[in-house]
Amino acid sequence: MQNGTRYLNFSSNDYLGISQHAQVISAWQQGAEIYGVGSGGSGHVTGYNEAHQLFEEQLADWLGYPRALLFISGFAANQALIAAFTEKSDRIVADKLSHASLLEAAMHSPAQLRRFAHNDVDSLQTLLEQPIDGQQLVITEGVFSMDGDAAPLAEIAQVTRHAQGLLMVDDAHGIGVMGNQGRGSCDHLQVKPDLLVVTFGKAFGASGAAVLCSESMADYLLQFARHLIYSTAMPPAQACALSTALNVIRRDDSRRLMLQANIARFRAGAQSLPWQLMSSQTAIQPLIVGENQPAVNLAATLRERGIWVTAIRPPTVPPGTARLRITLTASHTDADIDMLLEALYDAAR
Ligand SMILES: *Cc1c(COP(=O)(O)O)cnc(C)c1O
Repeated sequence: MQNGTRYLNFSSNDYLGISQHAQVISAWQQGAEIYGVGSGGSGHVTGYNEAHQLFEEQLADWLGYPRALLFISGFAANQALIAAFTEKSDRIVADKLSHASLLEAAMHSPAQLRRFAHNDVDSLQTLLEQPIDGQQLVITEGVFSMDGDAAPLAEIAQVTRHAQGLLMVDDAHGIGVMGNQGRGSCDHLQVKPDLLVVTFGKAFGASGAAVLCSESMADYLLQFARHLIYSTAMPPAQACALSTALNVIRRDDSRRLMLQANIARFRAGAQSLPWQLMSSQTAIQPLIVGENQPAVNLAATLRERGIWVTAIRPPTVPPGTARLRITLTASHTDADIDMLLEALYDAAR
């Protein structure tokens, strides 16, 4: 719904349709009955209880890390990690297309910031080989939010290890949808970053985030991460809902299979469109239009036909690559996808 009109939504990050899952909704309701709607304070005071603890333990077990720490958002988690783990003598080496929450935090850090060419391991290696006194923190995403392509995590992990750096992966768009039991991009490529950020605003269908890390890093964050100390903790009822969402994600492969089938149907149907389809195999299927105005016009044309797709323009994406950022979910039917394709072909004529 937008301004009282119903649209067919191809802009949602609710990739598995979990925001509408009956069990998840009822877990949130039951959590609110037990704990009320808010946490009542920072986790350092009284905002943290057994609902948070249970969900953290469940996450750590699922992803194979000693510890998981909840944050109120992925934005906050990224800011907190970069602030806590970098100092002046260090160097941050980040993929050029990293999300704003990563690059902004990196710019605020006193550490040196270098960006490597997108998904280019040689470019990363060249930067890592420059002399430095302190520690190097390598930052990338599992699946990139605007292109939908995946990072070569195995190769990135290898050159990072060789340079004795720390690897941080933000898997906002991979968690839940990729890997065995939805464990994400890192599981899919058999990589274990030092710091893994997963967020709950996409495939988990709600909001919030967690950092997966070692015992000592978690203890350090609890002492020094200002985003944990000076911010109201996630409502416990939300942790209950997320915990149920995780059970669905682990056990129910059918949603991932449905999403894969929808991706395949869209890609097969979109081959003859005049706009460039990227090589993405994920739920994010951008159509590159080029200039800004035609991209905005195309989005408006679709909207007139009851289809909601967002045009993304620079500076969010590089100049000359304005696009429709189409996202597919497990909730779309064949008819929904065919309707989108038909509207695109009509707009192309
Ligand atoms: C959405 C997103 C975030 C921010 O997460 P929120 O929980 O929405 O604050 C961080 N990184 C990436 C790559 C994202 O796509």
